[in-house]
Amino acid sequence: MKNGACPKCGSTDVHSGADILFKSGPFNCNTIPVSMTSMAAIDNYVCTRCGLVERYVAEPSKLKEIARKWPRVEGETSASDE
Ligand SMILES: [Zn+2]
Repeated sequence: MKNGACPKCGSTDVHSGADILFKSGPFNCNTIPVSMTSMAAIDNYVCTRCGLVERYVAEPSKLKEIARKWPRVEGETSASDE
C-alpha cells in the first residue's frame, strides 16, 4: 500500500495520512499503546476506491521498542502467503 497500489482492488487511488497533523493527539485517536509510558503514532493509508485502510507505525524507534517489549507471535506454520 505504501507503494501507492491497493492490494484489495488494485486501485492506485491510495492516499497517505502520514503528514496529517495531530496524528498522535490531542485525543490519541491515531496512536497505539506500546507500554504503560509509551505511545506510537500511526500513519494511515486509505484506498479511496474501496475504503481499505492500512496502518503503519510512523517512527522506526517505536518499531524497535515494540520488538523489545511485545511478545513475538508464533505462527502454526512456518510458511505464510500473507
Ligand atoms: Zn482499494
